[in-house]
Amino acid sequence: MPYPSTFPPLDIPTGIDLWSLLLEHKDRDFPVTKEILTCGETGRSYSWADLRSSSIEFGKGLKERWAWKKGNVLAFYTPNSVDTPILTLGALWAGGIVSPANPLYTADELAFQLKDSGAKGLVTQAPYLPTAVAAARKAGLPLSRIILLGPGPDPAGRCRHFTSIRSTSYTQRHVKARIHPTKDVAFLVYSSGTTGLPKGVCLTHYNMVANVLQASYVEGSQWRCRGGPDGRGDKQLGVLPFFHIYGLTCGVLMSVYEGWQLVVLERFDMHKALAAIQKYRITFAYVPPPVVLAFSKHPAVDWYDLSSLKLLHSGAAPLTRELTEAVWNRLKVPVKQGFGLSETSAVVCCQVVDEWGKFMGSVGKLMPNMEAKIVGEDGQEVAEGKSGELWLKGPNVFPGYFKNPERTKEALSSDGYFKTGDVFRRDTHGNYYCVDRLKELIKYNGYPVPPAELEGVLVGHKEVADACVIGVEDRENATEVPRAYVVLREGVETSEAKAQELIEWVGTQVAPHKKLRGGVRFVDQVPKSPSGKVLRRVMREQARKELRAA
Ligand code: AMP
Repeated sequence: MPYPSTFPPLDIPTGIDLWSLLLEHKDRDFPVTKEILTCGETGRSYSWADLRSSSIEFGKGLKERWAWKKGNVLAFYTPNSVDTPILTLGALWAGGIVSPANPLYTADELAFQLKDSGAKGLVTQAPYLPTAVAAARKAGLPLSRIILLGPGPDPAGRCRHFTSIRSTSYTQRHVKARIHPTKDVAFLVYSSGTTGLPKGVCLTHYNMVANVLQASYVEGSQWRCRGGPDGRGDKQLGVLPFFHIYGLTCGVLMSVYEGWQLVVLERFDMHKALAAIQKYRITFAYVPPPVVLAFSKHPAVDWYDLSSLKLLHSGAAPLTRELTEAVWNRLKVPVKQGFGLSETSAVVCCQVVDEWGKFMGSVGKLMPNMEAKIVGEDGQEVAEGKSGELWLKGPNVFPGYFKNPERTKEALSSDGYFKTGDVFRRDTHGNYYCVDRLKELIKYNGYPVPPAELEGVLVGHKEVADACVIGVEDRENATEVPRAYVVLREGVETSEAKAQELIEWVGTQVAPHKKLRGGVRFVDQVPKSPSGKVLRRVMREQARKELRAA
């Protein structure tokens, strides 16, 4: 029997789109003037009312200047900015789909996403223009369709700033797009899923509305994390990248819904993060495990007043018990853990604050309105307490991959469960434990690295005959790192220098988080199944044995 959530079921409406949930939210416990987005460096800010009106003006501008249609995709290639939510929500108001990309992508990586998603526009910042322009050219997107946010215009005058696209007109074609929440896609985020190259994960308005309400119930009602009047209420440190589902849902959307003040930093930097906590009296942060590690070890933690901080929430990758204890011993700040995926609009499980310290190592309880199965290799549910693959059903589970019925079919069971590719066990109290990963995905500092992509890059090198890439544990830095097992072409000598040369070469071809930080090992052959599929699990086992022996 599938396990239902242990939380009471919520009433999740099917008739409301995400923009309306967030910005027509009547039973708020905060005023419209509440400051929601604050730039941690400059102090530039938007209130809830500013966010509402600016997003409408941007949405109108899209309709007026670009004849924006329902279903048009607006891609984002930018580090965090207080402007990002304005454009994101504006595009949704106008019926668009938002497809965020990692701002460290190379031009080829970005061009892939632009082409695959069929993006009709691209949002970026002036320092990112050279790569954005190169990617737009490769993808056939006119440069006039690049919009800037953040400070500064385009030095070469090619692209418009979003403030010059906004419109305040009121005519019939300036009304909000009609959305069918259970059918219309709000976000197209890219993930490699359980196998292969990145794919567009379609997340409908209903999926996102559901996850905001589910997370709001657990974080708001259970933890009593509150918006409240200006200057009061909870304040979140916004260091998670907004382009990743974790930062998008828990960082941006939850803050707008709950009225938390989100103090936005462009990216994670320990000194800037600590200074922001001290200056703004920040109360909590959603972070990945390497940031928890920094709180446990970084000397600068002792130089700032962090007395306002009452909670860290870790997600996106496994958190060890040692790290949780280290932060508690140093700061007396609890670290609770959650688990989620792009395909589930983010949050699937979350620890409850009241139970902190009781179920160490658990990722918490299943979100309201979800059901889980733990399934063995035979496709049957395993006995209670045993581990198996986690399968999920719920209103936040995606309907499928973009234009990819084959992969969608593989990812969903015949009875409608999403097969996560993660190995879990559940205890009798309804707490879930992530034990292992069946799928190939590697997570570096919480960022997904699809091994198939790195293998594709490696075999493009003239001296490489074959390659297998896996993730290996880097305990010291609380993360996994990608390692390549490489078969060289005949006549090419293996050596330390050759390994280094390949590591450096790959580093020039991919975004920085995909670098081969786990090194290159030379092998005579890559293990393959009879059908020719790379057996990465064999290499992972070998690497684990090597680690244990070391
Ligand atoms: P993404 O789609 O990038 O969010 O990646 C989702 C994957 O991240 C999951 O399938 C897990 O493998 C991993 N993940 C997320 N949260 C955790 C966690 N708390 N512990 C272990 N793995 C996690």
